[in-house]
Amino acid sequence: MELALACYTKCMLCEHRCGVDRSAGHLGFCKAGTVANVYRHRIEYGEELELVPSHLFYLSGCDLRCGFCIAGIDAFDPSRGMALTSEFFNRAVQWGQQRGARNIQWVGGEPTIHLPAILEVMSRCPQLPPVVWKSDFQGTPEVFDLLKDAVDVYVADFKFGNDACGRRLAGIESYTRIVTRNLKIAAGQSRLIIRHLLLPGHAECCYRPIVNWLRENLPWVPFSLRDSYLPSWRSRRFAEIAHPLTPGEAKQAHCLAGQMGLRVIQ
Ligand code: SF4
Repeated sequence: MELALACYTKCMLCEHRCGVDRSAGHLGFCKAGTVANVYRHRIEYGEELELVPSHLFYLSGCDLRCGFCIAGIDAFDPSRGMALTSEFFNRAVQWGQQRGARNIQWVGGEPTIHLPAILEVMSRCPQLPPVVWKSDFQGTPEVFDLLKDAVDVYVADFKFGNDACGRRLAGIESYTRIVTRNLKIAAGQSRLIIRHLLLPGHAECCYRPIVNWLRENLPWVPFSLRDSYLPSWRSRRFAEIAHPLTPGEAKQAHCLAGQMGLRVIQ
């Protein structure tokens, strides 16, 4: 636990690698301090079938700035919500279990930027359910060292198939090198589900390279293809994602995944 909390003093939790001392009040790209805030927690049924009903804890703050984010300002402002304390967490877990949740699931924003605070509350939870970690997979390898004994299922968002789209739509550099490195680490640690949100106009630049990489590297990993994209919030900034996905785009994507022999679960 001390090791995890020490991460705040020279923060390298995600690949922005800001190196700031968050415990001294210094802020990096994500603007998060040492207190993680929960802006919503509830039982969800729209996740992958093997996970539902799942009790999701939404933490505010993120290391990305995706143009297609549906969470709104809660995702980007780490001060939103109520503090993740042990008292709050233990009570919330009990609430979820009473309502039949099969697991708890950390989502954001991005939970990686709050990893030490999350590990702390989980270590103090007397009846911790199975843990699902849903992430953009832009954490550093040290994050996966800390997670390896704490997570039962990883759900990875594989968002872009090339670095230019990652830079333009999410403000992140070297996206593909980082996400593919982390997918391989996670696949060797725990159960892994890889998700991709189909975006209009990104079939060739993003979806096809993702499918090709999965076929060559992790063809046995369950692939969750999300084809219900709707524009919201910031998406008007980018012409091609300012409208919904067409049924034709979704159908072609499912066909390609089938042709490539991927294990499509959704
Ligand atoms: S978690 Fe925040 S402060 Fe730490 S490296 Fe990432 S963006 Fe920077």
